[in-house]
Amino acid sequence: MTDFLTLAKSHESELFELIEQLVMIETPTSDKAANDHISSIAADLLGDLGGDVTIHSEKEFGDHITADWPASGSYASRQHALIVGHLDTVWPFGTLERMGYTEKEGRLYGPGVLDMKSGIATTIIGLRTLKENNLWPNRPIKILFNTDEEVGSPSSRPLVEKSAKGAEYALIMEPGQAGAGALKTTRKGLGEFRIYVEGKASHAGAFPERGASAIHELSQKVVELQAMNDWPDGISVNTGLISGGSARNTIPAYAEATIDVRVKSMDQAEEIEAKIRALKPTVEGTSLRIEGSFHRPPMERTPALAELAAKLINWSNEIGFDLTEESTGGGSDANLTAAMGVPSADGLGSKGLNPHAEGENIEIGEQVNRLALFMKALNSL
Ligand SMILES: [Zn+2]
Repeated sequence: MTDFLTLAKSHESELFELIEQLVMIETPTSDKAANDHISSIAADLLGDLGGDVTIHSEKEFGDHITADWPASGSYASRQHALIVGHLDTVWPFGTLERMGYTEKEGRLYGPGVLDMKSGIATTIIGLRTLKENNLWPNRPIKILFNTDEEVGSPSSRPLVEKSAKGAEYALIMEPGQAGAGALKTTRKGLGEFRIYVEGKASHAGAFPERGASAIHELSQKVVELQAMNDWPDGISVNTGLISGGSARNTIPAYAEATIDVRVKSMDQAEEIEAKIRALKPTVEGTSLRIEGSFHRPPMERTPALAELAAKLINWSNEIGFDLTEESTGGGSDANLTAAMGVPSADGLGSKGLNPHAEGENIEIGEQVNRLALFMKALNSL
């Protein structure tokens, strides 16, 4: 039986060199050039491993990349393994200079090191090691690295869904839940809605009766939205932004609000979306326009997803560490692959602290465990 931990340890320096190389390239989602640059580096590395690489040109975001390795002979028709990661980070340019890339007490600190440059490096080094040791899996493999995950994958969503179609399983190389580094086996669905209210302007002193206040109307909708919260059952509805009006002494003709909605099941998503769309104006002379949708469906812990998690947890014990599982309110591309019916393991990439926050870091020792588990999973599933 292959000792994947020993194999991983023998590639430790290679792994950390690549993590450093990737962290040194700052990739805020909003900067196309930076993300194109890191995409092309990742594309070259995957091409070196014999992958059939496609660069998916984007106008607004960095180019996304996919790489395919078909299987030969009787394995060619098997369902593919999908591996997903993102190359963008939430950090603006200059963060690296301010925060630095440093090692302290068994941890590596740097912007994006946890979310998720380490997961990208682990994927590439893992595949390379499998290839060099004739441990390549007996099924087709597809990799997708996108560059807009941190803003909800608006441009890569169709590509994520297309890549997931027909997959046997998906490994999402995002960091594990901060702290224990747990696999995330349920993720809430995330919706964003906007309500635009149109009223009628009038002088607030001279002719208040001729106006229709959009702010008055919107404030009533905010109260109705607030009442849709059911925190114990996992539904949260937050009116996070409002604006409107033109002057203190004018009845406001315009107001708008942006609403964040989280749910834990598809049924809840449908129910809340219907309720929001059914909102009606109650202030005479005003009208409503409602836009938005669930851009990330909930990831439910289906039996197939639970079975995949159980296998990974089992293998982590064989390798010599303790992978666990947790649920989270945050979204990732796993929401999309899971909604396609593909059992998805999310949070394999690394273990660390402070994602999206000062002091972001990974545990160095654990990263080798993660490399071993990634290789074991691809080889065995
Ligand atoms: Zn991430």
